[in-house]
Amino acid sequence: MDIHADRLWNRLMALGQIGSYPDGSITRLSCTKEDGLARDWLIGEMTAAGLEVYVDAVGNVIGRLSGEDANAPAVLTGSHYDTVRHGGRFDGTLGLLSSLEAVQTIIEQKKKVRHTIYVIGYKDEEGNRFGFGMTGSRCIAGIMDPEGLEAKDSDGITMKEAMAQAGYTPADYQTCKISPVKCSIELHIEQATVLDREGLSLGIVEGIAHLLLYQIKITGHSGHAGANPMKGRRDPVVAMSEWICAVTKEASKEKYCVATIGTIQASPGSFNVICESVTFSLDIRSMSVDEIHACLKRMDDIQEEIEKRHGVMIERTLVQELKGCPCDEPMKNRLEDIMARNSIPHKRLMSGAGHDSQNYNGICPCAMIFVRSIDGYSHRKEEYSTPEDCANGAQVLYEMLLAEAGEIR
Ligand SMILES: [Zn+2]
Repeated sequence: MDIHADRLWNRLMALGQIGSYPDGSITRLSCTKEDGLARDWLIGEMTAAGLEVYVDAVGNVIGRLSGEDANAPAVLTGSHYDTVRHGGRFDGTLGLLSSLEAVQTIIEQKKKVRHTIYVIGYKDEEGNRFGFGMTGSRCIAGIMDPEGLEAKDSDGITMKEAMAQAGYTPADYQTCKISPVKCSIELHIEQATVLDREGLSLGIVEGIAHLLLYQIKITGHSGHAGANPMKGRRDPVVAMSEWICAVTKEASKEKYCVATIGTIQASPGSFNVICESVTFSLDIRSMSVDEIHACLKRMDDIQEEIEKRHGVMIERTLVQELKGCPCDEPMKNRLEDIMARNSIPHKRLMSGAGHDSQNYNGICPCAMIFVRSIDGYSHRKEEYSTPEDCANGAQVLYEMLLAEAGEIR
């Protein structure tokens, strides 16, 4: 291997100390003291590795390795350095530190590349403090919605205010944009069990899923739980249970589609009262928007039948749509070649979770490498990837960066 597996692992453990709790979980929310400590630690590591380092207007930490051709578009690599509340030490940081390890190896081997490589520690991907995520990558891609800067935390502090307090200049967010860009490559933990179940070290991401979030409201007729016989009831909870079973079944018929009911509220919500209404969320995702629409179209017919049979009314309201990002086919093929050359067991798979990379959709070709998550744990302290898998990922990233940045031999 070219990369230094121990150095990567030691850095992971060191960054994992910043914002850590006695139970082993880590909390590094945007513009907090821990966030600042992580930023300063990163600046130190990137500088020592030989990169030209700067922190942009919103707090992205960026290390640059200049290419030989100053006019050639840049190659971006990295991941986020924030965590969710009580998260783990691999989400985001593994990708960022693998990028650093890969580029440090390029520097140490005195290899020359044509394109400038940017190693980016993205600011606030998780959005756990302000409820608005991917701030850093949106700014670098040049697609930041300035409304996001007005998002408030639970104390009523806006992102803009918190950034200013942390020493950034959020009004200058447009200066963060990096352009022109040749491509982006991000390594991340899988956060699911596909690779672990199949005994595979790495994954090549086919694309980041498109997401539609709906609120479903079913209205029936409430009444006494004891006095009303089963026949003739208009119980929205029973209708909901059928609706949920149906959407689960319909999603399973598609190749990539996944459907999840994450919240349920019953009204009035008393044990001895038939509900008047129930409201619940539907998070439905797929690589292909067509799959989602096909699934929902079948649900329309099923829904009508449920409405008739139970005497209820079902309303579906779109709350949010997040565009997915197909990964670049030639880049996927290059990753496949590199993994095969290194005899690393791998497969292609979809990313159901969102990532910073999706903000480059339509801006530049993107690729993502997934590293196996043991038991699929993520966003919790049990999150773990083995040192061997981490090293495999960083080695592939190193070879990929040399290919994309145009190694000059
Ligand atoms: Zn992440």
